[in-house]
Amino acid sequence: MRRRELFRTSALAALAAGSRLKADPVTTKSVPPGTSTTAPTIPRRDVRLRPVTVSQDRVIRTIVGLRPFRPSGFVVRGDKVGAKTIVHNYGHGGAGITLSWGTAHLAALEVQKTGQREIAVLGSGAVGLATARLLVERGFNVSMYTKDLPPNTTSNIAGGQWFPFTVYDVDCLTPDFEEQFATATEFSYKRYQTMVGDYYGVRWLPNFQMADTPLPTNGLLSRTGPLFRMLPEFSELTPARHPFPFRYARRFDTMFIQPPIYLDAMLRELRISGVPVTVREFRDANELQSLPEPVIVNCTGLGAKGLFCDEEMVPIKGQLTILLPEEDITYATMAPELYMFPRRDGIVLGGTHERGVWDLAPDPEEEARILKQHGDIFRRMGTRTTGPARARNEGG
Ligand SMILES: Cc1cc2nc3c(=O)[nH]c(=O)nc-3n(C[C@H](O)[C@H](O)[C@H](O)COP(=O)(O)OP(=O)(O)OC[C@H]3O[C@@H](n4cnc5c(N)ncnc54)[C@H](O)[C@@H]3O)c2cc1C
Repeated sequence: MRRRELFRTSALAALAAGSRLKADPVTTKSVPPGTSTTAPTIPRRDVRLRPVTVSQDRVIRTIVGLRPFRPSGFVVRGDKVGAKTIVHNYGHGGAGITLSWGTAHLAALEVQKTGQREIAVLGSGAVGLATARLLVERGFNVSMYTKDLPPNTTSNIAGGQWFPFTVYDVDCLTPDFEEQFATATEFSYKRYQTMVGDYYGVRWLPNFQMADTPLPTNGLLSRTGPLFRMLPEFSELTPARHPFPFRYARRFDTMFIQPPIYLDAMLRELRISGVPVTVREFRDANELQSLPEPVIVNCTGLGAKGLFCDEEMVPIKGQLTILLPEEDITYATMAPELYMFPRRDGIVLGGTHERGVWDLAPDPEEEARILKQHGDIFRRMGTRTTGPARARNEGG
């Protein structure tokens, strides 16, 4: 029950800076007896915070993707359609990379109930790849069918932060979904930790969340919630302890998954383990009856809307502008309507969330806004980091 209540605020709202909620001081998770639990902590690990160089002539591309969003959250469930069992695993909104291993685990449990061993997986985005891999690990014979392969999936567009953002609307939550969400989040968190390193392009980085109004401390960021355990190094920073041009800032560490590296490696591993991959588009659910496999796991993301007539599914358009890579930027930032994630293929600047918009064309006005606002942050940060004491985020 407690677990459920903890997810009651939408991930987006929880991280949306500008909340009117009062920020309470955050403490380390284990403190010696007798120690005050209200004293603000400061980052314990030294982090070099060189400002990002933002300018129009450093832009290498601007890309758009459509998040497969459902107000009541992702769907993982088994259905009988004609002679086949369809196990759905779609609708992950803004967190398909994050949750992919967790919902793959839930889908694999559904597959297990059928008693069948020959399984088709539809789709080769983050969700289909994790599902196919987990099924192989659990002894199933898997075949993959997909309209497009990486790099031509929505998963390749993702920024790649591990965090369950924009997964549901709070008013649409059901207890059953909350239970699935909690299980999936925890499973994924642990699985990605086994993949940290260059091969899969997964690494831990400090994140700095900032705003001019107090940062939210409820919902996903509740200090008593299970997700809090998944945000190591969480601490509130006083203005003297950070170089960012905002009144409020906090730090926590999360994993970053670099989609071009990760999705390639996942597909390669599947092929090495003998999974046949067929490029094929299914125009409606009836076509699935022609497949030889009795069980089909549907990981088609936004494609599930048309394929299975899911009226609830809605796109949320997101646009990213990528700057030339900067190897020595080793932290991420999040400010209202803005985020910066450093990756090997570039500095990723976001973000936009336009619900119900299907247009895949980049919006030049949004690109200009994202560049200008990030430029302002890092220029002002630069002027605050000229002295040696402020050039580092000190752990003392
Ligand atoms: C700008 C942006 C930033 C994002 N940032 C993050 C982030 O930082 N962290 C995070 O966790 N998530 C992020 N996301 C969300 C993430 O990209 C999605 O949740 C995720 O890609 C969904 O994965 P998927 O495998 O379900 O869908 P997809 O990646 O879309 O894969 C669907 C697969 O199904 C196939 N398919 C579809 N229809 C059919 C059909 N009819 N027949 C056969 N095959 C079909 C497709 O070809 C594809 O292979 C972001 C999204 C956007 C747009």
